[in-house]
Amino acid sequence: MRSFPISRRVFPLAWACLALSATGRAEAPAASAPAAAAAPAPPSGSSGPSQDDWNEPYPPYHLLGNIQYVGRHGVSAFLITTPAGSILLDGGLEESAVPIQKSITELGFKVSDIEFLLNSHAHFDHAGGLAALKKASGAKLVASRGDAPRLRAGADRQPAEAVDRVVDDGGTVELGGTVLTAHVTPGHTPGCTTWTMTTTEAGKAYRVVFYCSTTVVDRLLGNAGYPSIVADYEKSFPILRELPCDVFLAPHPAQWGMLEKRERAAAGGNPFVDPTELRRYVDQSEKQFREALAKEKAAAAPAAAPK
Ligand SMILES: [Zn+2]
Repeated sequence: MRSFPISRRVFPLAWACLALSATGRAEAPAASAPAAAAAPAPPSGSSGPSQDDWNEPYPPYHLLGNIQYVGRHGVSAFLITTPAGSILLDGGLEESAVPIQKSITELGFKVSDIEFLLNSHAHFDHAGGLAALKKASGAKLVASRGDAPRLRAGADRQPAEAVDRVVDDGGTVELGGTVLTAHVTPGHTPGCTTWTMTTTEAGKAYRVVFYCSTTVVDRLLGNAGYPSIVADYEKSFPILRELPCDVFLAPHPAQWGMLEKRERAAAGGNPFVDPTELRRYVDQSEKQFREALAKEKAAAAPAAAPK
């Protein structure tokens, strides 16, 4: 049985979800910094988002099939629209809730038509806006068993919210012909949830993966708040690598190269479809996890015997 809440000793959650980009460029430090470290400076050479841009505006757009992007410049939010209403995946920061609603209406959809609110994982940059979005929409909040306690309890910059439905691995949310399946891929959080669905555009079906996160942001060894953290990461990488995926999406636009893909999309074609991207991402993320683990093990090893 995992214990809760998630340990937050190691990193200020300002860094909760930064990650390597789809191209494998590191955008956040590995997690083996000392517990007492202040918020680390953005790594030099990083062109990824700092926390400063997380809530910067980004124009909403139709992404593919029945998926719309309604998130911010630095945190993702996806609106999945169906004839029976819509599903919103992630609420961004607490201060993202109002702009996300504006983005939804700007695309011609109604906030009151949201039937379900889903969450990738219960960190403040993806769950902070859920409470206000739930109030505005009247939607039911669906969460994994592992992350539901943290959503209910709330956290800094993350108002507590009632969870209406708990899903386990393989659980589904169905609405208007769209089925979203929950894959519990823990490590980043105990209930980190990767959602998958199929969407259709121009008569062609695409398998979409909404990746949770496998970035290391917490202590891996001796983590009293999350004792199974290493085993959970180890379990999740193979699961994630094998998910059928034509379209890779994730909680931060930098993780799936949104800005660069949008530029390519403007030039024609569909850069969102890339069946190789998920595996490349998982490989790179697992490499970073192993490096972080090795670093912690080295730091924990007894000093070499004197010669
Ligand atoms: Zn996170």
